[in-house]
Amino acid sequence: MSSLSDNYFKVKEQIAEACRKAGRKPDSVVLIAVSKTHPVSAIEELYQLGHRDFGENRIKELCDKKATLNHWDIQWHLIGQLQTNKVKFLEPAFIVHSLDRLSLVEKLAQRFSNVRCLIEVNCSGEASKSGVAVEQFWDLVDKIAQKPQIQVLGLMTLAEHTNDEKRIRAAFATLRGLSEKLAGQKIFPTYANWLSMGMSHDFPWAIAEGATHVRIGTAIFGERLLPNTKAAENPT
Ligand SMILES: *Cc1c(COP(=O)(O)O)cnc(C)c1O
Repeated sequence: MSSLSDNYFKVKEQIAEACRKAGRKPDSVVLIAVSKTHPVSAIEELYQLGHRDFGENRIKELCDKKATLNHWDIQWHLIGQLQTNKVKFLEPAFIVHSLDRLSLVEKLAQRFSNVRCLIEVNCSGEASKSGVAVEQFWDLVDKIAQKPQIQVLGLMTLAEHTNDEKRIRAAFATLRGLSEKLAGQKIFPTYANWLSMGMSHDFPWAIAEGATHVRIGTAIFGERLLPNTKAAENPT
C-alpha cells in the first residue's frame, strides 16, 4: 500500500474511534479529504479507494481539478473564503462551506436559483479569522432567510491553531449551540444540521463535540508542497 492509502485508512479508523468514544455511529461523520495544493493523481488514488468527498479552499484550483476529473462522481466542497468577484466560477453542484457575509449572500442569490451553503462562524473570536462573528450571526441568518435560493445545510467553523483542548472544544461547542438553536427555529427548510468542523490536528475533539463533517488535509495527503494562500486577503 502507498503511504497515501495508509494515511487514509488510518484517518478513517481514527474517525471511527472518535465516534465510538462519543457514543456515535461511525458513519455519522463524513470525511472531506482536503486536497488543496496536491495533484489530481492523489485525488484519483483516493477515488479508487471509494472516496467521494473532496474539499478545496480556492475556487480556481477546485475548477481546474474538477475539469480534469469531470467524468467522476465527486462531491466537491469549497471550504475557503470566496470573493464575490469569483462567484462566477462557482458551479451549483459545489457545496460552499464559507458563507460569511451579506455581500456574498447577495451575489450568490443573484447568480443561482439553488446553491447549497454552510454559514461560516468565527467561534474563536480571533480577528484574523474568516467567518461571521457570533454577535452578528443572527443578523446574517435573517438576511439569508430572505433569499430562498440559498439552501443552508448547516454551519462551519475553524478552531484556533493551538493545542489547548478546552479552547478548541469551546469553539466547537459554540457552533453546535448555534446550530441547535437555528434548527429549533425552523428558519431554513433545507437545514440538515451539518456541523463542518475539525481538521487534522483537532478532528477527534470536533467529533466529540458533534461534527458531522471533518475537513482533513495534512493527515491524509501529507504536508502541503506549495504555498496556498489561506484566504482572500480582501474579500468584498
Ligand atoms: C486546509 C484546510 C483544512 C485542512 O487542514 P489540515 O490541517 O491540512 O487538515 C480544513 N479546513 C479549511 C477551511 C482549510 O483551509
